[in-house]
Amino acid sequence: MPHPSPCTESFDPRFEQLVLFNAELELLADGFRWLEGPVWFGDQQCLLFSDIPNNRNLRWSVQHGVSVFREPSAFANGQTRDRQGRLISCHHQSRCLTRLEHDGTTTTLVSQAGGQRLNAPNDVVVKGDGSIWFSDPLYGLINDYEGGRQSSEQPPALYRLDPASGVARAVANDFDGPNGLAFSPDEQLLYVAETGAPGASAPRQFIRRFRVSPDGLSLSGGELFHTVSPGWADGLRVDQLGNLWCSAADGVHVIAPDGALIGKVLVPKRVSNLCFGDRHRSRLFICASTALYSLFTATRGC
Ligand code: MG
Repeated sequence: MPHPSPCTESFDPRFEQLVLFNAELELLADGFRWLEGPVWFGDQQCLLFSDIPNNRNLRWSVQHGVSVFREPSAFANGQTRDRQGRLISCHHQSRCLTRLEHDGTTTTLVSQAGGQRLNAPNDVVVKGDGSIWFSDPLYGLINDYEGGRQSSEQPPALYRLDPASGVARAVANDFDGPNGLAFSPDEQLLYVAETGAPGASAPRQFIRRFRVSPDGLSLSGGELFHTVSPGWADGLRVDQLGNLWCSAADGVHVIAPDGALIGKVLVPKRVSNLCFGDRHRSRLFICASTALYSLFTATRGC
C-alpha cells in the first residue's frame, strides 16, 4: 500500500489547490452509532460532536482521545459556536436549541415558533451579527433511535433566531426536509441541504442557494445549486474560497461556488457532517456513521 493511500478524487484543477499530496485520511475513533454535530473549540484544542442514538455528546483531542462531554444530551444533533464562543446545540428529544454558558449552565434558546413546538432542530449556524439560523425537519420525531417518536405540530422550516428577543421566525418554509446549512464567506449567500420528507421512497439530494437580504433578516431565491450523488447532502461547511464541503454517501464532496463538483474526499463510511478545525482551521473533521475521521487540507474553513 503506497503512502499516503489515495483518499481524494479530483475532477477539476481547482480541487488540487485544496488538498495536500502527502496527507492521509486518519481514523481518529470508531465504535459509535451515528455521529453528527462536529464543532471545533480552538481555545481548548478539542472537537465536540454528537453520538445521536447513544444520547451523548463526545469530546476528542490529540492529548486525550475521546471522552464523554455530556450525557444525556437530549439527543443532540447539529452544533456550532456563537460569537462569544458558546456551544449552540440542536436537540431532537427536547425539540429545542440550547446554549451552554461559560459558567456551565444551559440556557434554552428556543423551543417553539408561532405558538407551536418545533419539530426536531437538526443543524445550526451563527451569522456574524449573532443571529442563529437553524433547520427544523421531522427526522428526529419519526423513530425511537434518534430521540423518540413524537407528533409534529408544524411543517418543516428554516428559521432565523434573534437570541436577544428569543423569537424565531421562519425564513423559508418551502422545504420537505431542511438539513445542513452554511453561509458563504461574505454571508451574502446561504446554502441549505434539502433531503426530503421522512419516509419518502427516495431522499431528495438537493443543495439550495438563497440570497440573504441586506438587513440580514430574510432570504430570497432558493434555487437548486447542486444535486448530490450518491447519497444526499447532510452537513455543509464553506472554506475561505467559498467552496462548499458537503457530506455524501461516498465521502465529502467539494463544490465550487459555480456549482461544479470539483473533487471528493473518499471516506469508507457514509458521511453525515464535517467541520474545519485545528490551529489554522485547515484540518477537516468528518463524522461518518460510526466513526470519526480527519484530513489535513491546503485550505482553511470559514
Ligand atoms: Mg443534519
